[in-house]
Amino acid sequence: MGACVQYASAAGSRVLLVHDASREASVLDCRGIAEAYDEEGIATIRTAYETDTLAASLSGVQLVVACDVTFNQADAIQLEQWVKRGGGLMATGRAAFGLESLLGLQTVYPQASSDVDKVRFVTQHPAAYGSYWSGPMMEAAIMPATHQAPVAELFYRDRQWPAFVAEPGVGQVLARWAGVGPDPTMFGAAIVAHQYGAGRTLYSGALLGAYANWEWPYSWRTVVASASQWLSEGRPWVSLGYWPNAHVAAFSWTGDTETHSMPTAVPAILAVFERLGLARFGTFYVTADGDAPGQGFYAGAQQYPDVIERIVEAGSEVAGHGDFHRAFAGESLATQRARISGMLVTLNGLLSAYGERVRGFRAPFLSQDFTTFQALTDMGLEYDSGDADVWVASTLPNDSDGIWQLPPTMPMDWHLFVEHDVSSRDATTIFLDKLEYVVARRGLFSWLHHPWVIEPELDVLQSVLAYAVERGDLWMARQDDILDWWIAREQLSPIEVETVGAELRIRLANVSATRAVAGASVWLSIPQSVVSPPEFSIDGQPNTPIIREHAGALFAVVVLPALAPQQSVSITMTLGQGIFADDFAN
Ligand SMILES: [Zn+2]
Repeated sequence: MGACVQYASAAGSRVLLVHDASREASVLDCRGIAEAYDEEGIATIRTAYETDTLAASLSGVQLVVACDVTFNQADAIQLEQWVKRGGGLMATGRAAFGLESLLGLQTVYPQASSDVDKVRFVTQHPAAYGSYWSGPMMEAAIMPATHQAPVAELFYRDRQWPAFVAEPGVGQVLARWAGVGPDPTMFGAAIVAHQYGAGRTLYSGALLGAYANWEWPYSWRTVVASASQWLSEGRPWVSLGYWPNAHVAAFSWTGDTETHSMPTAVPAILAVFERLGLARFGTFYVTADGDAPGQGFYAGAQQYPDVIERIVEAGSEVAGHGDFHRAFAGESLATQRARISGMLVTLNGLLSAYGERVRGFRAPFLSQDFTTFQALTDMGLEYDSGDADVWVASTLPNDSDGIWQLPPTMPMDWHLFVEHDVSSRDATTIFLDKLEYVVARRGLFSWLHHPWVIEPELDVLQSVLAYAVERGDLWMARQDDILDWWIAREQLSPIEVETVGAELRIRLANVSATRAVAGASVWLSIPQSVVSPPEFSIDGQPNTPIIREHAGALFAVVVLPALAPQQSVSITMTLGQGIFADDFAN
C-alpha cells in the first residue's frame, strides 16, 4: 500500500478509512467513524491520503470511507470506476468535491455551521434504519419533548465543525439540515444515498465521526453501522453482536424503591416476573433510609429489611438509590462520598448474608452530576443508571463520564401515570413504541419504574414484559449482568475476514488475560434473495446459525463457544451457489 498506515491495520480488513492528516476536522471525523467500526467489531485500515496512491489501496477493500478529504482527479476517477464495479463508498464533508455525480449530487457547498444545529431524517431507508423512526411517537407528541428520544434528529451543536449542504441530483435524500433554535426551517440535503453502477454510495454533509467520541457518543454511530451494511449489500458484512446469544437488544426492568408501599408493591412485581419465567431479572434501586413507618412519603431498607431479602431471594438485583431520597447534584464531593458510603453500609449489611453487594446506583430524581460519578467511583461502585437516554442520546452502555452508564429509557412510569395521567392503554402503546425504537438501534431498553407508581398498573407491566419475552430475541437481564457482559464484550478483538476460494474465514479473539467471554456472536448479513443459509463451521465443527431479521436485513448469527482468556476462534462459511454477487468469491 502506497499510503502510510497511521493507526492500525488488520489482515483481511475490508474497510479503508481515508483522511487528510493536515486538517483536524478530517482527522477527528476519521477517528469517530473508526470508533463506530470498533463498536461493531469490524477491523479497519486508517490511512492518511497521499495523491495518486488510491488505486493500490483499493485492492481487497469492500468499503471506502472518505473522511472530509478531497481526492485529486486521477484518484477520483479510480474511485468512480471502483464503485461502478461494485465497491461501496461513504463520503463526508468536502469529500464530495469532484465526486458529485458518483454521489448522486448536483452540487455541494459549505454551510455556515452557525446556521444549522441538527440533521433530521426524512425517510425510511436501510442506510438510516436506526436513525429514522416512524412509530406513534413520531406522529403525536403525547409527552413533552424532554421525555422522548430525539427520534429522527442527530445534533450538530458544536459549531466548530464544518457543515456542507448538498443539492441532490439522482441520489435519494435521507436527511436534511435543520436550523438553529425553534425555527423548524429545513435547509438543503444533509445525507444522500445513491446507486452507481454495481456499487452504492452515501454522502453526509455532516462529519459523521465528529461526535462519536464526544458528548453524544453513540447516536451517529448508528448511521455509520446501518449505512455500511447497506453499502455492502451483495457482499458479506460481518459484525460483532451487541448482546449475548444472538439477542437483538437487551431489556432490563429497574425500579426506584423508595416509599412505604414497598411491602406490597415489590412482591406484586416479583410475582409478575415469576409468572413470566423471569428467574434472574429486575434491578431494584433501593433507598437506604426514609421516614419512620407511617410517617411521610419516603422509606428505605432500614424500615423494610424483609423486602430487601425478598428481592434477593427472588433472583433480582439490589442497587442503591441514595442514603435518603434527596438530590445529589450540587453537593460537594465529600458530602456525596459520605452519603454513598452510608447507603452502602445499610444495603451491603443486608446483602452480605447472601454473598451479594451493591454494584450500581441511581440518584433520587435522577439528580446527579459529574461529582456524583466521581464519588461513585471513589466508593467502588461500578455503574450508574441516572443519565437518561434522552440526555445522552444513547441507548447503549457507555463509559464517557468515567463510570459505566446504563442509560434509563424515557419516558418512565412517573411521567405517564403521575405527571400526565395517561391511560393504561396509551401508556402501553407508548412503552411498546419506545421499545421498538430501542430495538431498531439494538440498544438497551432500561425500563424505569417505581413500585409505588406501577403497583396499580401491573397489567401494563405484565403485558409489555410478556410481549418482550414472547419475541424471543430480547435479552431479559439484570443491570449488573448487562454491565458484566458489556465489559467482557469489550475484550473481543476486531473480526478478521478473509476469503479463500469459496470459503469465508472469520477470526475473532478474546484479548483479555483474565476474563472469559461467553455468548459472543458474529452477525453476517445475507441478501434477501438467498433461500437457504450458508453452511458454517466453528473450529472445524459444523454449526447451525440462528436466522434473524433486523433493520430491514436478514442475518445468519453464529453464537460462539465460551472463549477463555487469550483464546481465539475460527469460523468458516462455505458459500453456496450464487449467494453473493459482485466480486466476493474472486
Ligand atoms: Zn426515587
